[in-house]
Amino acid sequence: MFLCAEAPQSSEIRRTFPALGTFATVVVQIPPDEGPLLVDSLQRLLSDIEQELSLFAESPIRRLNSEGRLHLNDRRHLRRILIASDSLREITGGLFDPSIGAVVELWGFPGEPSVPDSFRLDSVLRAHTGWSNVSWAGDSVILSNGTKVDFGAIAKGYAVDLTYERAIELGATAALVEIGGEVRCGSVDSCERVWKVGIRDPRGQGVSRVLRISRGSIATSGDYECRFREKGVTYCHLIDPRTGWPETGVASATVLCDRCVDADALATALAVGGVEAAQGLPEGACWAILIVLEDETGETHEWRSSTWKEKWNG
Ligand code: ADP
Ligand code: MG
Repeated sequence: MFLCAEAPQSSEIRRTFPALGTFATVVVQIPPDEGPLLVDSLQRLLSDIEQELSLFAESPIRRLNSEGRLHLNDRRHLRRILIASDSLREITGGLFDPSIGAVVELWGFPGEPSVPDSFRLDSVLRAHTGWSNVSWAGDSVILSNGTKVDFGAIAKGYAVDLTYERAIELGATAALVEIGGEVRCGSVDSCERVWKVGIRDPRGQGVSRVLRISRGSIATSGDYECRFREKGVTYCHLIDPRTGWPETGVASATVLCDRCVDADALATALAVGGVEAAQGLPEGACWAILIVLEDETGETHEWRSSTWKEKWNG
């Protein structure tokens, strides 16, 4: 979620279009006659990414999950996302783990979720998840033991990065890209621009605060997406890979980083692992963190990293 800074500049183009099962918004500062070509190129890029990474349409990922093996050939997005996932899984101590696919499927996300039988959940977790089941043989990816990958927690951030970088490459002097709430913004050296990015209030409709930043990425993961209630208990789509159950106690986690691929995966991991996970991240893993916690009475309070407090005065 974002708000653009000052009144739109004369050379600014803003477009919103469907991408990756949600919407992408692109704001670019570019001479008017170059704008339409640039937007076309960004749209094509996003559609390429979607073709490789979509879990909804017939895609290489779907094939990988059903056949357990895929020759990557020229599928550069899938290759890069696997490599990025490998290190982000490591950095988060396994709290971000795309090999959780079979468990997400068992819960029925994102369609019509329901609480699975706990024995079944336990056996799927033990038998069909775990990053050690994801391996390479030459240029092929192998998924062992019926493991399925789900890049829902990182694909949007990855796509944001590529779109942002392509916009700057193609001549934008400033750009902001947002896909499903994950944002990256910045500008070239000759055009220092300040952007305003709003962070959604996890228990309200509006934004809880607005950050002014000149460059960087912001991602938020919250339990408010895909929530459902069963027998008086609320469940969300953020799964703890240690237990197979949705996280509780964190309403949202917001992470600020250089790259959006990192911010996206880290936000999911911290929504699952909370403050302890935030404190356990290696130094330099991100720029700043804000976590909104919710206690049993439904009351919320915020935890901010020291870097967040320094940057925005508390
Ligand atoms: P959103 O897609 O709502 O912005 P996230 O970026 O946090 O939220 O991604 C959540 C999606 O990631 C889930 O819908 C699921 O497909 C997948 N997922 C859930 N838990 C994990 C996890 N611990 N590690 C990796 N992926 C996860
Ligand atoms: Mg994420």
